[in-house]
Amino acid sequence: MKRRAFLKAVLAAGTAATAARSPGRSRGRVLIVGGGFAGSACALALRRLDPALDVVLVDPDESYATGPMSNEVLVGWRSLASITVTRRGLRAAGVRVLAGRVADIDAAAHGVRLEDGRRERYDRLVVAPGIRFLWERIVGYDAFTARSMPHAWQAGEQTSLLARRLAALPAGGVVAICVPGGLMRCPPGPYERATLIAEYLARRRPRAKVLIFDANNHFPRQDLFTEAWRSRYAGRVEWIAGTAGGSLSGVDVTRSTLHVEGGTQRVDVANVIPPQAPGLIAATAGLSAGHGWCPVDSLTFESTLSPGVHVIGDACIAGAMPKAGSAAVSQARQCAAAIVAALAGRAPPTEELTSVCFGLVARDAGLAIPARFELRAGRWSAMPAVDVAAAAQAAAGGGGHDPLWPVAGLALDRTSTAAAQAARRWYAATRAAAFAD
Ligand SMILES: Cc1cc2nc3c(=O)[nH]c(=O)nc-3n(C[C@H](O)[C@H](O)[C@H](O)COP(=O)(O)OP(=O)(O)OC[C@H]3O[C@@H](n4cnc5c(N)ncnc54)[C@H](O)[C@@H]3O)c2cc1C
Repeated sequence: MKRRAFLKAVLAAGTAATAARSPGRSRGRVLIVGGGFAGSACALALRRLDPALDVVLVDPDESYATGPMSNEVLVGWRSLASITVTRRGLRAAGVRVLAGRVADIDAAAHGVRLEDGRRERYDRLVVAPGIRFLWERIVGYDAFTARSMPHAWQAGEQTSLLARRLAALPAGGVVAICVPGGLMRCPPGPYERATLIAEYLARRRPRAKVLIFDANNHFPRQDLFTEAWRSRYAGRVEWIAGTAGGSLSGVDVTRSTLHVEGGTQRVDVANVIPPQAPGLIAATAGLSAGHGWCPVDSLTFESTLSPGVHVIGDACIAGAMPKAGSAAVSQARQCAAAIVAALAGRAPPTEELTSVCFGLVARDAGLAIPARFELRAGRWSAMPAVDVAAAAQAAAGGGGHDPLWPVAGLALDRTSTAAAQAARRWYAATRAAAFAD
């Protein structure tokens, strides 16, 4: 569509929508693309900070299954329903939720077009589309063959598919988890998954094992995961690093075969996690840079490539912050505060941002990977581990309990029951903060 026609249609849509609301109440309209942890948390934070704001959230799905705790679903500890949230909480908070997918952004015209042709205008746009998979990097793998070799890296139907494959594993069978190189969603996730599958096999298929084919040579809390594999699941988990030939180049689903650098491997269940990049809309709207991810101003999360458009969550690159739901919620709150400040003509606030990833190693044991980020030379930089531990101790000593960062008093150098309990508390609090559901 020609730009002028797009602009005209967007303005007309905006006028109609504004007329439908009570005149004079709203101080501006913020449109959010994507209702995952980042987009939903941002919508709620905006409404909380300024109830007069018109907040519109666009997402194709009426419900959303969370990545966090989805590894528990795989091994039968939870149902998929228990990790599925609705949009009811957002609506109750006054967010206007539109079912649809944004196909096009015209930042100059302050408008978006949905796939079905509807148009919406905005004063500020927040883009939070999560990730897309780079299928083309693995020969023979695509959205169709992923039904036979599920990635389960977007929770929902894929989680159920992998759970069914595991349930059908023959005695003495081999489960393979393939981990991509490059920046990815939830870096400790594949190793938690391998550990929980090992626990499952110990109970259900004592002669079966898990192979991890990894494009990387290190992984988060490798010391604690490796120790759990040795002490709890001896002989059941084998990790093949990138330098040992673990990098996956292709699959053959009809022969149930993986092509890794080290050779060809036949397996019974393959969990192929593909390389990742930001959700497609980020690329088509010109928000991603040469390295693939979306660069943003640290304080406001405004795109450095497209003024007035903010990018949060897994899609953005925010200094040292990991691609995690906890980080997404922290970014969402900072971004919401910056938008409210900008609309009121104030400077954005500066907060510390946080993230915490938990990894379960058994039903009653887990590990925590907490981090705090401060702005150094305009970049979110991880505070030294000793300061993070001190912050955790300060919280334990009554220095303020943060339910989104429940690491107070946890021993971070070992797995513990307390960490598993904190993981479940964190999940409940973060889910409430993001979805009010
Ligand atoms: C197995 C697993 C375990 C995990 N465990 C943890 C954990 O313990 N702790 C933790 O902090 N994190 C964890 N994560 C990571 C966490 O799930 C992600 O970091 C988080 O979901 C990122 O949120 P997001 O909002 O950026 O993206 P998403 O949650 O993917 O949400 C993006 C949303 O945008 C929508 N969307 C995309 N494109 C468009 C469009 N064009 N128009 C409209 N809507 C669109 C999508 O439908 C989706 O609903 C885990 C992930 C996995 C896979």
